[in-house]
Amino acid sequence: MRVVLLGPPGAGKGTQAKVLSDRASVAHIASGDLFRKHLGEGTELGRLAKIFMDRGELVPDDVTIHMVLERIAEPDAKGGYILDGFPRTVPQAEALDEALATKGQAIHKAPLIAVETDELMRRLAGRWICRACQTAYHEVTNPPRQAGVCDRDGGALYQREDDKPEVVRARLETYDRQTAPLISYYEKQRKLVRIDGQQPVEAVTAALLRAVGR
Ligand code: ADP
Ligand code: AMP
Repeated sequence: MRVVLLGPPGAGKGTQAKVLSDRASVAHIASGDLFRKHLGEGTELGRLAKIFMDRGELVPDDVTIHMVLERIAEPDAKGGYILDGFPRTVPQAEALDEALATKGQAIHKAPLIAVETDELMRRLAGRWICRACQTAYHEVTNPPRQAGVCDRDGGALYQREDDKPEVVRARLETYDRQTAPLISYYEKQRKLVRIDGQQPVEAVTAALLRAVGR
């Protein structure tokens, strides 16, 4: 199972990818998480990525493609994966397809989690993330059992710098301009499945499981 999860920032890609990867025993690969890991480790790639992340812009294609293609070549991704936040541009999608084709592989499905802008703003403003495992919570719709503490591993929760409203607006514009064209890209390949992302988490999960044939 090789799946690309599409949707604007805050649609619930990370939330759903975590559940789906557990259920289907495949890897969850999130480009944003990989950049934040580099940032935390103080690598050169992390410092470069931060410049773009802080502005709500995309990290350049060449470095992003290289990072993700290396990641999907790791052993735990052999049985399949859910890509979350990648591809985000048409050149990224083309590079992914070309790399897979050389191995006789392909993406199976590209579910699009659709959520309205006002709801995205509410979700990102109330989002808290675990520093250790990156699980996302929401202070109203999906709170942790204990405020500030991750249910899964007890990690500390924090709010992302780029979830501030002014950066969120830039990220949503970036999505419309650079990532939304992927909808027709995967539609042409007959892989796109539209999912109503405004339903409760469990209902979205059920729709996604149907979409990927599980
Ligand atoms: P993305 O990875 O697409 O940016 P997240 O999975 O981090 O989005 O979710 C964004 C925020 O919305 C988080 O605070 C999460 O807890 C919350 N959330 C996710 N799915 C839903 C849902 N179906 N209903 C309400 N809130 C949700
Ligand atoms: P996310 O965690 O998916 O919201 O991503 C956070 C930030 O990381 C984005 O706003 C971008 O700056 C950067 N990023 C993540 N994935 C990509 C990608 N596929 N291409 C370019 N930049 C990305």
